[in-house]
Amino acid sequence: MKITNVYEGVVPISSSIRNAWIDFSSMDCSIVAIESDVIRDGKPLVGYGFNSNGRYSAGEILRRRVLPRLTAAEPDSLLDEQGSLDPAKAWQVMMRNEKPGGHGERSVAVGVVDMALFDLASKIEGKPLYRYLSERHGDGQPDDSVFVYAAGGYYAPDKTLTDLQDEMRGFLDLGYDVVKMKIGGAGLAEDLRRIEAVIDVLDGDGSRLAVDVNGRFDLATALEYGRAIEPYGLFWYEEIGDPLDYHLNATVAEHYAGPIATGENLFSLQDARNLIRYGGMRPDRDILQFDPALSYGLTEYLRIQDMLGRHGWSSRRCIPHGGHQFSLHIAAALKLGGNESYPGEFQPTGGFADDAVVEKSRVGLTDIPGIGFEGKAAFYKVLRDLHS
Ligand SMILES: [Mg+2]
Repeated sequence: MKITNVYEGVVPISSSIRNAWIDFSSMDCSIVAIESDVIRDGKPLVGYGFNSNGRYSAGEILRRRVLPRLTAAEPDSLLDEQGSLDPAKAWQVMMRNEKPGGHGERSVAVGVVDMALFDLASKIEGKPLYRYLSERHGDGQPDDSVFVYAAGGYYAPDKTLTDLQDEMRGFLDLGYDVVKMKIGGAGLAEDLRRIEAVIDVLDGDGSRLAVDVNGRFDLATALEYGRAIEPYGLFWYEEIGDPLDYHLNATVAEHYAGPIATGENLFSLQDARNLIRYGGMRPDRDILQFDPALSYGLTEYLRIQDMLGRHGWSSRRCIPHGGHQFSLHIAAALKLGGNESYPGEFQPTGGFADDAVVEKSRVGLTDIPGIGFEGKAAFYKVLRDLHS
């Protein structure tokens, strides 16, 4: 088996939404297609990848470093002992001549290609990724559905409390039991009004609402908000301070009794390990949100899972950021706690298969070989146009 062509492109995933740090009006995303010499139904098998959301496209790194290394590699150097495509070996090739640390958006570029390689490897085996992955890296008995929660509640110009409530009711109507909203983009008094308005929609049950600060707070503000929101008994309090400020996180964890979630902007095993070592995260209640697509791919995510196990963490405490199909397969195969979902946002890349149905906040997997982008028509058209 060998790689015959690689294609790289950029798609806009623009949106009018805003969190506490950024607006998404110019957000875009790298996509790649990796074509193989394996022919199925008269056509070469192609693996696809994209870089989740929240980080811009990484085309320069892909074009100048990552993809040339992959295409220049001896085809056999990308295969395991059985002669199957081995994404972990390809990972070593892509990272050749790269110094440790300073991960920046290199992890995004590698993550896109790693996703495409796993898509291709599982297509070659004729299996959906979650089965392929469960057999190799899980216990062979993947979950048949995955917990998902609806992330929204962004700030938008002229968005009223009623608009926010309507948005959340819409998520409940779609089958979600747990919802998430942004905080920290307004003052405490206004954010508390927003939180209470959403809890009203949830029949007064704060344990079905997560709040996300997107890393905005300093320690004093983090503690002030923590004191104010603790009585609501929220689902979690997310990314409270700067993602790399482990001391802040640990201090909040000493004072805030409810669950804390973070990790979506930690892009490497080393950063994830530092969070576990120094971030005060509590394995009995807190949630880890590393996004495999943004952080050197599934190859690195498997190393992160191994590290977590050594530190006494269950995979069930992981609920990746991003709301994409790749992490849905990973969640089912590695028995994670769930996956994020952004109904209607970050199109065409985000979300699950077109026929996916959410029931009681759980969604099933597709049986299409690979990640199943072929079952997501609008995105599949974009991916196919990249190479045909
Ligand atoms: Mg977040």
